[in-house]
Amino acid sequence: MIDFRSDTVTKPTPAMRAAMAQAEVGDDVYGDDPTVNHLQEMAAEMFGFDGALFVCSGTQANLLALMAHCERGDEYLCGQQAHNYKFEGGGAAVLGSIQPQPLSNQIDGSILLSDIEAAIKPDDIHFARTRLLSLENTIGGKVLSQEYLAKAQALAFNRGLKIHLDGARVANAAVAQGIAIADITQYFDSVSICLSKGLCAPIGSILLGDERLISKATRWRKMLGGGMRQAGIIAAAAKLAITDQVERLAEDHDNARLLAQLLAEISEITVDLAAVQTNMVFVQLADDINPTILADILRRKGILISGGHNLRLVTHHDISQQDIITFVHEFKHALLKC
Ligand SMILES: *Cc1c(COP(=O)(O)O)cnc(C)c1O
Repeated sequence: MIDFRSDTVTKPTPAMRAAMAQAEVGDDVYGDDPTVNHLQEMAAEMFGFDGALFVCSGTQANLLALMAHCERGDEYLCGQQAHNYKFEGGGAAVLGSIQPQPLSNQIDGSILLSDIEAAIKPDDIHFARTRLLSLENTIGGKVLSQEYLAKAQALAFNRGLKIHLDGARVANAAVAQGIAIADITQYFDSVSICLSKGLCAPIGSILLGDERLISKATRWRKMLGGGMRQAGIIAAAAKLAITDQVERLAEDHDNARLLAQLLAEISEITVDLAAVQTNMVFVQLADDINPTILADILRRKGILISGGHNLRLVTHHDISQQDIITFVHEFKHALLKC
């Protein structure tokens, strides 16, 4: 199947499978797994932090960060479209007693600095304590500018807030700008990075922070049932995700651009070319197209897309340039039938 639903569908590479088979392991809850320890040291060093924690998902990494920064009755500022507000089951509120204060995302994915300023609550018994600003990069496939990040960091610092990055796809943001991941993560007190998306690891995310944050996060991870034992098996693949898979993301970005350009020529759909900055293409179907029938026809041709009139197509390691051309061909035919 050619699967455009998400970059989470990428399978581990042959090199990852070999590394997993040979991984040296120990009990990571005791801190004894040499492969996990090496991954965490490598990640801390590469991305410019004192510490790193290997966790089972991006959702868990974000939750641990929120719970490490905030206490019961605190709040975090984030975008209305933020994954850690909209798509993580309300975990910060449910499990952390932390209130989200969502703010509008602009077309470019940023949150206006003036909106952030205005949302910071005064120190008054009526209000939750505003503790943290949480940004996301990339957001909806879009890259936040380095100038914006610098300004957001300065604002957070001046107002006594901590600043977290949901960097699930921060590697895509770095590659799109031709800079290092550390150039982006430098602006943040904590960062979560997904290794199981475009970077192809089967499982796992990394949380970055200072020693205090990582030690709090390690305690919460254990409480949440995220303490893993011989986790070196998956950490072996995760190491290759950060060493071998980052630069390759440029191919996904090229494929997304090619896909968008080819789709832009089709009259029944609208493609926002300016929004194609990394590995995502958003396609608006005309109202009279039935998206369920469209998806069904394509499935029978070996192509998977998610439903709805606003399609998100994601390019990744397991989609080649030829797959893009095959998709556009089949997509044009399918549109005639629905
Ligand atoms: C995927 C994603 C997550 C969560 O990662 P999981 O590993 O799926 O839990 C968090 N934030 C963003 C921006 C994501 O895209």
